[in-house]
Amino acid sequence: MTSIHIKLTMTYDPLKVAAQLERIVMKDDARKYYRFRADRWYGGIATADCVGCPLRCVFCWSGFPRDRPKEAGEFHTPEDVFDHLDLIAQKRGFEQLRVSGNEPTLGREHLLEVLKLVDQTDYSFILETSGILIDADYAESLSIFKNVHVRVSLKGATSEEFSMLTGATPESFELQLNALTHCLDASVSVHPSAMLSFSPQENIQKLLDRLDEFQPHLSKRLEAEYVIMYPNVKKRLKAAGVKPRMAYAPSGVPLELI
Ligand code: SF4
Repeated sequence: MTSIHIKLTMTYDPLKVAAQLERIVMKDDARKYYRFRADRWYGGIATADCVGCPLRCVFCWSGFPRDRPKEAGEFHTPEDVFDHLDLIAQKRGFEQLRVSGNEPTLGREHLLEVLKLVDQTDYSFILETSGILIDADYAESLSIFKNVHVRVSLKGATSEEFSMLTGATPESFELQLNALTHCLDASVSVHPSAMLSFSPQENIQKLLDRLDEFQPHLSKRLEAEYVIMYPNVKKRLKAAGVKPRMAYAPSGVPLELI
């Protein structure tokens, strides 16, 4: 077990975890990845799965690469990551690329170098992130790329749900919401998504109201996420004693959500 595991037995500050993790998953300009693949989401997207996330969501489908970052994956330079994604996209006729699997915004300079390479092409890049690390400065550095779209995935509808689902301090939910406003302020293309499997309607309404305070009608662009019951997700939920109000079987995800 890494020291990260020991510190996560109580409520934790994800920014502190991120700083610890960066020492593990980054080496010079290279970052650890555990897989490169073609995926079905977004109508087909070339995907690089990175290692390490500062959150500990109870519904997370990432197993070993999230929980044992020291042992998982191998280091890849930005050029290497881009080449893998480009090759997959060319073979499959995809127009979109992404980094997924864990938290892509760890190792900021590495990610920006990947995005610089993507920017010289016609590909679109979907940046799926919890937003925890996206402060005003980070958002500003993303704003120079013409083909990046950020999807900030909120972990629950309120700070209490966020803390229950991630184990992080409730106030860290504000970092997620702030990422949205920082992206909006910097004119970065962005939309919110939220894990709503555990949310009663009144909390969903609170979130919708909050989003509309950031930007009129932003709530209309909220993408609802629901837990997909992969075997390791079931195991995590059982261990945490948490039951979703709504979830999908892996084979039962509605087409409109893919
Ligand atoms: S943010 Fe994503 S990768 Fe990180 S723990 Fe949550 S579900 Fe897993």
